[in-house]
Amino acid sequence: MTAPTPTGCRDAPVLKERGQREVFCGLTGIIWLHRKMQDAFFLVVGSRTCAHLLQSAAGVMIFAEPRFGTAILEEKDLAGMADAQAELDREVARLLDRRHDIRRLFLVGSCPSEVIKLDIGKAAERLSAAHAPHVQVLNYSGSGIETTFTEGEDACLAAMVPVLSESDRKELLLVGALPDVVEDQTLGLLDAIGVTPVRCLPARRAAEAPGVGSKTVFALTQPFLGETSAALVRRGARRIAAPFPFGAEGTTLWLKAVAAEFGIAPEVVDRVTAAPRARAAKAVSGAAETLRGKRIFFMPDSQLEIPLARFLTRECGMQAIEIGTPYLHTAIHGPELDLIEAGPRLSEGQDVDLQLDRVRAARPDLTVCGLGLANPLEAEGLATKWAIELVFTPIHFYEQAGDLAALFARPLRRRALLDRRAPRLEAAE
Ligand code: SF4
Repeated sequence: MTAPTPTGCRDAPVLKERGQREVFCGLTGIIWLHRKMQDAFFLVVGSRTCAHLLQSAAGVMIFAEPRFGTAILEEKDLAGMADAQAELDREVARLLDRRHDIRRLFLVGSCPSEVIKLDIGKAAERLSAAHAPHVQVLNYSGSGIETTFTEGEDACLAAMVPVLSESDRKELLLVGALPDVVEDQTLGLLDAIGVTPVRCLPARRAAEAPGVGSKTVFALTQPFLGETSAALVRRGARRIAAPFPFGAEGTTLWLKAVAAEFGIAPEVVDRVTAAPRARAAKAVSGAAETLRGKRIFFMPDSQLEIPLARFLTRECGMQAIEIGTPYLHTAIHGPELDLIEAGPRLSEGQDVDLQLDRVRAARPDLTVCGLGLANPLEAEGLATKWAIELVFTPIHFYEQAGDLAALFARPLRRRALLDRRAPRLEAAE
């Protein structure tokens, strides 16, 4: 496969909106991060609201002794009547005493801890010294004031970068929390192509944490890792610019960019990936029958919107009306924007009422949005796709390309099915 000629959305004007938003805060990242990092614990320093958010987002997972919890700030903490730092020390000591499997402890800041200016950075330093070498204590903010949804992962990974050991080896760092099965497939592909050695951030276990240095090159697997990318660059590492590995085309271009960095020709990538590429194209074509010609509207949610719009327009034949993203990092999203044909409106940030007016005026065939908007829009006769599923479902690289397309085809198929049945249901009444 040769690199397609850029058709270009990179220089398109971007509608920037600031107003009421309908998004998750960064605490939600804990739900997938705690599964990935098998010896880590995430302790949110927050209020009952934060605890409830995690409980509802985690669903049934909360019954499986998960590795996350909330140290709830009580009124006396908020009023400054208790020494919150001393209480935190006590909570952490109790937790570590009970859970000997914990090697990394993340103190996660929230809106309440930020508003009362509780210095969790200082707490992390003190607790790290107290519990070293068995447990490393780090901190980051997942608050709704500072972070939107997937930015929680970005903040978490960025917090790990300064404490990675120094490395002077030329290594590829795979950056982004992928489900283990997808990570294994990717490592297998890179190995077959001849890219070696490869390390992962985050590593599954603390003992496998990668090193970083001026010979490190890294490839993002997620588009929302701007802070992590900047932190790695500050450690001397270099980012490989590429489209993201969604769909057959994105995956191939991503692999070719990585291979080029290691002096491996694109033909090698084509040869090695011929079979999975064909499987991906076949799997995508099944769903594309439903998607072709359909108009899609992305509300901002996860920063996955731009790469997904590229995949859906180029490989599934959809037409994008608006591609909304919470943040647009031109450097990171640039290679994707180059591939999206000019036409869709690009928007950054949100004023939800204005955006809903645009959705209603456009009446797209499919609207990608958060859970809070999906059912109300369905009730207005608009088909929706919950954006959160795109973060919880394995969607990267060749083997998942068909599933990714199917996620978008399903709501359209369901709607068509219900439309066909509706007259009969009415007749039965
Ligand atoms: S961090 Fe802020 S936005 Fe998130 S649940 Fe807690 S209070 Fe709400």
